[in-house]
Amino acid sequence: MKKSLYFKEEHELFRQSLQDFFKKEILPHTNQWEENRQIPKNIWEKMGEMGYLGIYHEEKYGGLDLDFWYTVVFLEELAKTNAGFSGNISVHMYMATNHIAKAGNEALKQKYLPDAIAGKKIAALAISEPNAGSDVAALRTNARREGDNFIINGQKLWITNGTYCDFYCTAVKTEKGLSLIVIDAESEGVSRRKLNKMGLHSSDTAEVFFDNVKVPVSNLVGEEGKGFAYIMDSFQLERLTIGIGLIGGNEWILAETLEYMAQRETFGRAINKYQVLRHNIAQLAAEIEQNKQFIYHTCWLLSQGEYVVKECSMIKLLSTELNKKVIDECLQMFGGYGYSEDFVVCQAYRDTRVGTIAGGTSQIMREIIAKMVVDNTVYQKAYSETDTITEKPIKIAKEIILSLPERFKPEKALDYQTIIHYDIAGVNGGKYTIKIQDGVCEVKDNHEGQAKCVITVEDSIYEGLELGKINPQEALINGKINISDLGEMMKFTKVFKRL
Ligand SMILES: Cc1cc2nc3c(=O)[nH]c(=O)nc-3n(C[C@H](O)[C@H](O)[C@H](O)COP(=O)(O)OP(=O)(O)OC[C@H]3O[C@@H](n4cnc5c(N)ncnc54)[C@H](O)[C@@H]3O)c2cc1C
Repeated sequence: MKKSLYFKEEHELFRQSLQDFFKKEILPHTNQWEENRQIPKNIWEKMGEMGYLGIYHEEKYGGLDLDFWYTVVFLEELAKTNAGFSGNISVHMYMATNHIAKAGNEALKQKYLPDAIAGKKIAALAISEPNAGSDVAALRTNARREGDNFIINGQKLWITNGTYCDFYCTAVKTEKGLSLIVIDAESEGVSRRKLNKMGLHSSDTAEVFFDNVKVPVSNLVGEEGKGFAYIMDSFQLERLTIGIGLIGGNEWILAETLEYMAQRETFGRAINKYQVLRHNIAQLAAEIEQNKQFIYHTCWLLSQGEYVVKECSMIKLLSTELNKKVIDECLQMFGGYGYSEDFVVCQAYRDTRVGTIAGGTSQIMREIIAKMVVDNTVYQKAYSETDTITEKPIKIAKEIILSLPERFKPEKALDYQTIIHYDIAGVNGGKYTIKIQDGVCEVKDNHEGQAKCVITVEDSIYEGLELGKINPQEALINGKINISDLGEMMKFTKVFKRL
C-alpha cells in the first residue's frame, strides 16, 4: 500500500472490493447501457444491497456513516466504469438525497432516505430551467400554498435521472423566496421527456413539467425561503465530488492510453518511444497528480469542518478543464482508432465535454473565484454548526471507556478475539483492559492478560478522539497517542459504534 496522509488500510480494502464489484456487475454491461440510453433499475438495488448508496448516510436510515475518504475512494472507482452511470449515481447520492439528509426534518428523512439508500427509490435534483441555469435566482417554477399542500407549476430542464427517478428534490419559488420541495414523480400533473444528448448516453437526462402538482407541505426540505442558501452550500460538495470523480476519470484514460502506446508501432518502434509523445504524457501525468493532491487537501479541509467555497470552485474549474485536455490529447495518441467507437477514449471524448458546463460553468467558477480573490467576498455557510453537527454530551475518559461494551457490535466482530491495554494518564484516566472473546466485550479497570496492543494517551486527548474533536491521524503523527500495533487497533475500532 502506498503511503498516504489520508487513506488507511481499510480504505484500500474498500477500493479493492469496489473494483471487484464493478468488474463483475457493471463493466460487462456498460456498452449495452450506452446503446439502451438507460441503466436498468435493478443495478440500483444491487448497489443498495452492497451498502454503497449509503456510505455517508447515517446508520439509522440504513447508511454506513463512513468517513469522507470512503466517498473519495467510491467516486474515484465509480468514474472508471462509465461516465453516464457514474453521473447518475453521484447525483442521486451527493446532490439530491444530500439535501434531505442535511436540511430535511426527521419525518422527511424517514420517508425518503431508507429507500434511496437501499436503491429502491431513485432521486433527482431539479434546479435548472429553460431560462435559468447559471442564474439560479431567475428560476420561475412556483409553489402556491393551499391548506396543507403546495400547488406547483413550472418546468425543469437537464435533469439527471429525470425520466425514471422516483422523486425530485426541486427548487421552487414560494411566498417566502426560493425553497426546496420533494416532489414524487408519480404525482398527478408531473410529465417528463427524455433529452437527446451529445454524450453520457447511459445517463437519463430529462425535461420535466409540473402542472398543478399537489405536494404535501411536509415535503418541504428544511425552512421555507432558505432554498437558495441550501443550494449554494451544497454546490460545494457537488463541485468537489465532480473533481474527485475526474481523478479516477483521468487515471483511467491515461492508463488505457499508455497500454495502447506500448503496443502500437510506427516506423518499427512502439509509439511510447517517441520523445514528443513521452513528454506530452509526462506533462499530463504531472498535471493530473497536482490536481489530485489539491483535491485531497480540500477533502481534508472539508473533513475538518472548513467551508471551502474557493477551493471547490477552483477544483470544479481546473479539474474539468484538465479532464477535457487529458482526453483530447490522449485521443490524439490513438490516431484514427481514437475516432472509433470501439475505443473507450472516443466515448470519453463525448462524455467529458459537459464537464465545464454542468454543475456550474467554468465562466461562473471564475466569477466566484474572482469575487473571493479580487473583492474579498466571504461566503457564509447555509447551516449553522448546530444544524449539522449534533453536539455530543461532554463525557470524561473513564465514562467513555466503560461505555465500550454498550457500543460493541458483535455482528462486526465475528470470530475476532483480542486484548487491548489502555494506559490513560490524568485525573479522568486509569489503566484498563478491553477483552473481546466469543462475541462479548468486557472492560476491566486494571491490566490483565497478554495485550495484542497497548495504547498510551492523556485523558483529554482520549476524550477528544472519542468525541470526534481531535483528528486521530494528527494525534498519532504529533505523538499525542502511542499505539503499539496500529493494525490491531484498526481492527479493534471497527467493532464499536461511534459515540
Ligand atoms: C448533461 C447535463 C446534466 C445536467 N444535470 C442537471 C441536474 O441534474 N439538475 C439540474 O438542476 N441541472 C442540471 N444540469 C444543468 C446545468 O447545471 C446547467 O446547464 C449549467 O448550470 C449552465 O446553465 P445553462 O445551461 O442555463 O447556461 P447559461 O446560464 O445560459 O450560460 C450560457 C453561457 O453563458 C455563460 N455565462 C452565463 N452567465 C455568465 C456570467 N455572469 N459571466 C460570464 N459568463 C456567463 C455561461 O458560462 C455559458 O457559457 C445539467 C446539464 C447537462 C448538460
